[in-house]
Amino acid sequence: MYNTQGQAKAEHNAKGQLSSFYLPAFEKSIALKLLPLGWNTNKHPNDNAECDYSHCLIIQKQNEMLIQSCGHSFHKYCFDKMENFCSICREFLELGIQKNASKFQQRVQSTLKKTNILDMHNNTEDEETFNKLNLQDEINNQVENKFEKLYTSWIEFE
Ligand SMILES: [Zn+2]
Ligand SMILES: [Zn+2]
Repeated sequence: MYNTQGQAKAEHNAKGQLSSFYLPAFEKSIALKLLPLGWNTNKHPNDNAECDYSHCLIIQKQNEMLIQSCGHSFHKYCFDKMENFCSICREFLELGIQKNASKFQQRVQSTLKKTNILDMHNNTEDEETFNKLNLQDEINNQVENKFEKLYTSWIEFE
């Protein structure tokens, strides 16, 4: 594995986006999403084990380095400054969550709009309320009937 260090090749899909890495040690292509989180962000962990902190000001090489499970590496001093959380991966996750949440919201709202249009054509608001009340009565009746039947069948059983 050591002999092939630094020889991984980035591979791109038809749209020109980075999709996988060819790892010579395993003679295999590994999809990007299967790699540690850091390789899915815009800022890939660097090969030279330099600090990935964007505001890093440390020049001395003997400063203690930490490699995170996401693949990013930081000076201990820089990592403390980020409150012990990789800021690159945090930003990537936060953006992803925001994107998913707004997509979900859009879908919920678009469904509501369609329902509103249907209601305008079929029912007035009063009719709708009336129907809802009737439905509630019907459900109550059915539930009561069910219990009554169950009760009768138990009595007959004894
Ligand atoms: Zn640093
Ligand atoms: Zn990271």
